[in-house]
Amino acid sequence: MSYDPSNIFGKILRGEIPAHKVYEDDVALVMMDIFPQSRGHVLVIPKAASRNLLDADPAALSAVIPLVQQVAKAVKHVTGADGIRLAQFNEAPAGQTVFHLHFHVIPVYEGVALGSHGGGKADDAELAVLAKDIAAAL
Ligand code: 5GP
Repeated sequence: MSYDPSNIFGKILRGEIPAHKVYEDDVALVMMDIFPQSRGHVLVIPKAASRNLLDADPAALSAVIPLVQQVAKAVKHVTGADGIRLAQFNEAPAGQTVFHLHFHVIPVYEGVALGSHGGGKADDAELAVLAKDIAAAL
């Protein structure tokens, strides 16, 4: 299957839909997941268009992974999480729901089960504070 630019992250990258942005440069946009699996769940979205990892340009992957690491460290620092889960889904049977490559940075808190993938919507005010604090820690 090929990349369809009408996906929701394509719209966010083009500024057609708002997002709680944490960081943006030529390589990627980082934003809060609005249906977080835990407090501080962030998405790193490479700007290079690909459906997922399987059709991504290796050069685009090389450019974005250092940012994923930086974001993971900042999220852990700000949230006080005990660990960070990195997730990335390829095609619907594997759990992918938005077909523009993205990396989930999910804080894990000792003894607290993660919420379901694409579960309840987070409070906008709380997401705005987290986005600002994570941006400051990057
Ligand atoms: P996937 O299932 O494709 O790996 O992940 C898509 C993610 O995007 C899910 O975690 C879901 O909560 C999140 N998501 C879906 N729609 C929106 C949206 O409009 N804005 C933001 N910030 N996240 C979204």
